[in-house]
Amino acid sequence: MAILVFIIGTIMGSFFNVCIYRIPRGESISYPPSHCVGCNHKLAALDLVPIFSYIFLRGKCRYCGERISWQYPLVELLTGGLYVGLYMKFGMDMHLLFYGILVSILIIISVIDMNHSIIPPSLVIIGSVCAIFFNIMGWGRPFLDGIYGALAGAGVIILMDLMALVFFKKQGMGGGDMKLMAMIGLFMGLKYVLLSMLFSIYIGGIIFIILMIMGKIQKTEYIPFGPFLSIGTLVSLFAGAQIIAWYSATFL
Ligand SMILES: [Zn+2]
Repeated sequence: MAILVFIIGTIMGSFFNVCIYRIPRGESISYPPSHCVGCNHKLAALDLVPIFSYIFLRGKCRYCGERISWQYPLVELLTGGLYVGLYMKFGMDMHLLFYGILVSILIIISVIDMNHSIIPPSLVIIGSVCAIFFNIMGWGRPFLDGIYGALAGAGVIILMDLMALVFFKKQGMGGGDMKLMAMIGLFMGLKYVLLSMLFSIYIGGIIFIILMIMGKIQKTEYIPFGPFLSIGTLVSLFAGAQIIAWYSATFL
């Protein structure tokens, strides 16, 4: 069963690659059919097998030899891996679908944010509508917990933006991150969205400092925060309960 979930994940990941390329460019995700971005040649079934096509084609287009970004197999592998992780955690349950939607949207948003420094509002709206629907149906979080989570998620970002403005006189994270965090709150509920935020700040902070020491970035440079919010959310989703239990047992 886990293998089947993985295969479905890689196929979904292949579709996410299309979304990642086309959504920021304002193109339709269903038309035209997949084609090479180098030579526009329409891709055959053989070119579209997740992960394997990339390996067999040695990362090059069969028609023009243009290099294919390693981002494609990576997104496919990541989606497959995370779907299997969710399956192991939740089993064949509505929660698998619920958190599968969250994870899928986080993958697409993170890669788009890394490439273009934008968080497409359309994806956040789709995610929020799904979350609210699942919560109302009783398949996700308790409805009110989702609402509190959304308010808390957005609230923390607004607070951090205000602090950035007051203390550093600079623009903080911005509206895209705020809406994304509100969406994450709908999926995670109050307690876990705060935990997501905490992990995001830790992980983002550590990576920021490492990159600054390595001289890869300037102190004032804009860093897309969407990927960190996503990573923090994944940690909270997969290990949040254990971390809270460990923390209470050790310090409280
Ligand atoms: Zn080509």
